[in-house]
Amino acid sequence: MNTLALKPKQKLSAECVDRSSRSQVDAQEESEPPGQDDEPPQTGIAARRYFSHIGQPLWDDWKWQFKNRITTARELSRYLPLSEFEIQDLEKVTRRYPLSITPYYLSLIDPYDANDPVRRQAIPSTMEIDPSMQGLEDPLDENGDSVVPGLVHRYEDRALMVTTNICPVLCRHCTRKREWHQHGTVHTPVEFHAMIEYIRSHTRIRDVIVSGGDPLSLSTHRLEEIIAALRSIPHVEIIRIGSRFPVVLPQRIDAELCQMLSRYSPIWLNTHFNSVREITPESAAACDRLLKAGVPVNNQSVLLKGINDSVSDQLALCQGLLKIKVRPYYLFQCDEVQGVEHLRTPVEKGIEIIAGMRGRTSGLAIPSFVVDLPDGGGKVPLLPDYIVNHNEEHIFFRNYRGDFYSYRNPLPVSNVAESKCLHNSLADTPAQPERIGV
Ligand SMILES: *Cc1c(COP(=O)(O)O)cnc(C)c1O
Repeated sequence: MNTLALKPKQKLSAECVDRSSRSQVDAQEESEPPGQDDEPPQTGIAARRYFSHIGQPLWDDWKWQFKNRITTARELSRYLPLSEFEIQDLEKVTRRYPLSITPYYLSLIDPYDANDPVRRQAIPSTMEIDPSMQGLEDPLDENGDSVVPGLVHRYEDRALMVTTNICPVLCRHCTRKREWHQHGTVHTPVEFHAMIEYIRSHTRIRDVIVSGGDPLSLSTHRLEEIIAALRSIPHVEIIRIGSRFPVVLPQRIDAELCQMLSRYSPIWLNTHFNSVREITPESAAACDRLLKAGVPVNNQSVLLKGINDSVSDQLALCQGLLKIKVRPYYLFQCDEVQGVEHLRTPVEKGIEIIAGMRGRTSGLAIPSFVVDLPDGGGKVPLLPDYIVNHNEEHIFFRNYRGDFYSYRNPLPVSNVAESKCLHNSLADTPAQPERIGV
């Protein structure tokens, strides 16, 4: 096995044509070089692990990264040590659930660590097609809440726009794994028009989430058309982009994109770091460019078995995120998606992790642990039980160390008034013993 084999260029461009989709055509249309920014390139050695033969300008070009995604088990075996048996297993899985990983993200994998957190998120496992595994195609019933194709309207003031189902990296724990069957489609202009008009006519929608797939798979030009249309709607206060590009293809966050986004402020971006290993000079610089463009970056991670399911994993991740000025927003319970069962943890695990973080790190580093309920029930935040008992006047707390405390509620107003009268009328009588808590 030749881990450093140079990939022949002809073959790559041929594959690119094979997999051509509208967004890739978009990507090719724009021939100008990737944006320059004022920061020196910060590529680490580890980040070039398998690609030392690729020149820096190409490596930094997001379109090169996008076009050269590794999508077959054979290709993968050039970089990771895989036995013939493992290759065949991988091929079996990818017939049902495809594989896609960028050269950059692949480079984060330690080839000799079978439990590498990046590997487990991006490289298929035969468990995905284990017939004994449970799960649902569309656990959140997003199809049920789709008001027009591509637009999910569940909460009155927010709407979620699925722009494309293209993603540079197919996360094995993807909640929209059902859409991989038609991988490579972008909604048509007519469909986009219908989504925009729905939002325009529903004046209570003040927050639109531009999601996917990954919306940054679209060309900057096409993304701008969508964002500009949303901005033309007076009641849309904020636009949120949900994208994993800062983590899996940080080169995408170039000057051109950042300048475009800064013109449509306020735009927020929620990204998806799951492991401290994903915080690299490249991903940090991508987040920094967004922040400098006035785009706040928050993180939504998914609690995944064997990847980030311990207090120490989460402390390392969330404290690492604060260092790059990314706020941990949500920690999601992994949805009961078909083909993802092997990565799910019991709900209690998430509560235990949040309990283990509180008091031991900055409150800013602690995300809300959230379960998105099946059948469109929506998100429910879960906290450890800090209240052990209560009566009308007192609440009995357990703190982060496990010590107990009693806290007095204010008396209801009518009682306050009564006790004041009582106090006045008893002014001349001997002092009463002070009332104490139960
Ligand atoms: C998660 C989600 C939102 C946004 O929820 P927030 O709690 O505001 O981040 C909106 N719509 C749908 C359908 C969602 O799944």
